[in-house]
Amino acid sequence: MKIRKYFRGSGRVLAFVFIASVIWLLFDMAALRLSMTDNSSVLLKQRVIEERLIMKSQTTKMTLSRQRGFKNPVQMVDYEGKDNVQLLNKVAEAYKRQHKELEKRGKNQINEDSVVLKGKKEAVPDIIPLSPKQSLPEPTENSVDIAQRSTLEAKKVAQESLINVADPVVLTKAPKLPPGVQENQHASLPISRKESQDIGNISDAHVDSKVNKQVKEDLKDKSAKQENEARHIAKTDDLKNKENQDNIISRRDLNATKEAGEPKPNQGLDSRPKPLFDGRSGFHKVYSLDITSAPRDATAVGQYGKVAMVPTDKAEEAKSRWVEGHFNVFLSDQIPLDRAIPDTRPKTCSKSMVHNDLPTTSVIFCFVDEVWSTLLRSVHSVLNRSPPHLLEEIILVDDCSTKEHLGKQLDEYMKKLPKVRIIRLKERQGLIRARLEGAAVAKGKILTFLDSHVECNVGWLEPLLERVYLDRRKVVCPVIEVISSTDMSYVMVDNFQRGVFTWPLGFAWNTLSAEHIKKNNMNVSDPLRCPVMAGGLFSIDKTYFYELGAYDPGLDVWGGENMEISFKIWMCGGEIEIIPCSRVGHIFRGENPYKFPKNRQKTIQRNQARVAEVWLDEYKELFYGHGFHHLLDRSAVDIGDLTEQIALRQRLNCTSFKWYLDNVHPEIESHLVKAEGLMFNRGLRKCLALHENALSFTICDLSKKSQRFNYTWLRLLRQQDVCISPQEDQNPGVALKPCDPSKPIQRWFYKAADSSMGEHLIAEAIVQDMCLEAGVRGSSLQINRCEASNSRQMWQFTHNYAKGSTSG
Ligand code: UDP
Ligand code: MN
Repeated sequence: MKIRKYFRGSGRVLAFVFIASVIWLLFDMAALRLSMTDNSSVLLKQRVIEERLIMKSQTTKMTLSRQRGFKNPVQMVDYEGKDNVQLLNKVAEAYKRQHKELEKRGKNQINEDSVVLKGKKEAVPDIIPLSPKQSLPEPTENSVDIAQRSTLEAKKVAQESLINVADPVVLTKAPKLPPGVQENQHASLPISRKESQDIGNISDAHVDSKVNKQVKEDLKDKSAKQENEARHIAKTDDLKNKENQDNIISRRDLNATKEAGEPKPNQGLDSRPKPLFDGRSGFHKVYSLDITSAPRDATAVGQYGKVAMVPTDKAEEAKSRWVEGHFNVFLSDQIPLDRAIPDTRPKTCSKSMVHNDLPTTSVIFCFVDEVWSTLLRSVHSVLNRSPPHLLEEIILVDDCSTKEHLGKQLDEYMKKLPKVRIIRLKERQGLIRARLEGAAVAKGKILTFLDSHVECNVGWLEPLLERVYLDRRKVVCPVIEVISSTDMSYVMVDNFQRGVFTWPLGFAWNTLSAEHIKKNNMNVSDPLRCPVMAGGLFSIDKTYFYELGAYDPGLDVWGGENMEISFKIWMCGGEIEIIPCSRVGHIFRGENPYKFPKNRQKTIQRNQARVAEVWLDEYKELFYGHGFHHLLDRSAVDIGDLTEQIALRQRLNCTSFKWYLDNVHPEIESHLVKAEGLMFNRGLRKCLALHENALSFTICDLSKKSQRFNYTWLRLLRQQDVCISPQEDQNPGVALKPCDPSKPIQRWFYKAADSSMGEHLIAEAIVQDMCLEAGVRGSSLQINRCEASNSRQMWQFTHNYAKGSTSG
């Protein structure tokens, strides 16, 4: 009876839920019908379908990298592979369809775009000397059309892929370049307010169409209008509350503008030039300058950063050329040196404001035996996408390359480019000292170091300089995106990734947790605090670089220098940030393509040991303890003189490494010892005690200091300065010795519980497996042949921080 009643009750509830669901469904369908009748619904649906396709195809990877962090790519959105090529094409198709729909409904916007693009194509000076292989015919009407179409396509494809493409920048006048630099070889130059009033003087040779003349007039008006606006704001500011922070900024920056000059709107053929500052002078919207946005050959291999493929009949050639750079050199040589790449910045970046009076930078590329096409593409990407007034120079430091093309041929090529200087090192110095050579001659206020196989993306420079401008102790890195070593495609990486280190001084990328992002209310475009920089790409104030003692010049060839500079920056008052609005592609490769004058592994380890000795304090034990014990034997490994480096750290009054760990990198587990606490013997069920220089077994009591031991990263069993050591002479036994980590005889392997000799302490320096063993009645401590099942050879520590792994 009760059960039936119960069923009746729940049946009512069920019926109610059912009816409610039906009503809900009906509402839903009605809403759907309404939305279907919306004009853009078809397009929307298309987009949704295509977006889903993309989402499906995006597989994310997380790879930890070794050493300097460049060995393996960061976590990236992966568009590689055939399926994705097809997918990208599909997306392009979808946008073409959308484009046609839009055209049908009203041509205005498209026409505006076309005017811009057509004008742009005519106006872009042919600045890039092409290698014979890449010389292309002069643009014809037809090729302009292709460029137009493909730019629109690229823009749309990019938008579909949740990335944005820069607004085209239009050139009408070659910038004023420093003496000795050829005119007509660079992008448009933002010029001062005074110069902006001279706009009417722009040579008609450059601007000759009716449209252009109209634009000139518009610009003149606009320029005057903006100036009035700025003055008006200055006046009203004065009247406003003096405490108002915004107004204070406006006034101050207006003053700054007087000295620094103010950028004027892009001159050119865009019929509606957009103001590059917002009327509150002192700032301007970051320049989305990109000479390649209407590439000369839209269908070229790898254009727009798309996947390139090796034709089957060239597979062998491609394979054999791999070693030249440890990436697909064959494909790289096919790809235009000035190819377009998608603007992968978070959407808000193109609207962010930067100061008008940013300092200039010297871009320093060090290279040894770099592949021709990648070196040139790197240089062109800087020239094509940097505001010229901020680019002081490009310094190429040739670290004694042996490849012929990097000699005269490079000199000749670079002579034709503005702002490029080559410095030749007579002896191979390695990356670190090569950078120091470049820095020494740099004239810019800020140094920007880049690897010699990169592609700087649109708007990459200003966000970096802006941060340094705000605080000269900020050292800033772009987001390093991936140029695939196999197909040379430009691959966007995931957001919220920062560089960290792992023991023993390896580099890794780490994605901030969702909770952290939420808790700190972080936006994709916010600068990220970065405990360790990857090393290859960063900007730093030149005087600050020298204040920090630059790099340790004792570091050889490659490796460890990113740790050195990162620890130094953080511990001596600076900060490292990754700036999501600045993006630079880099070819990550599995091997260094150049020779190390000495053994590669030894060189890197020696560098790391120098860093550990100077910066890690007591934590250097963690470095040596993670497999680098052999470096402690100074008679075998000479890590060089460190006096200057240690003195520098003192002079700079830097904080401790513990401070760095606690405040900058708290996520990394860094226990100073491997295991600690009581040493419990499983067979005796008692604990070891050290009393008045004698060892004994007793009832376990953690509160007694005499029972507390450390098992250190250097594999010593120690209490204060006393170590339990196997006897040095022939007699097997145990001795108490002053601890000396350099003596292998004092070391023990502690085996993890689940390993073959689980929980045994094995004497490291004795050839046969000899284990620490408690005497039968606990009256002695001995060393005997290891026996896996002998419980008197089994020891447990209160805390074991290296659980699960062989603590060897
Ligand atoms: N490099 C150099 N001298 C050297 C080693 C490297 O000038 O002895 C240059 C190299 O050509 C590259 C940069 O330093 O431009 C960084 O090296 P690499 O790209 O091999 O480092 P990764 O990106 O693999 O960390
Ligand atoms: Mn590199």
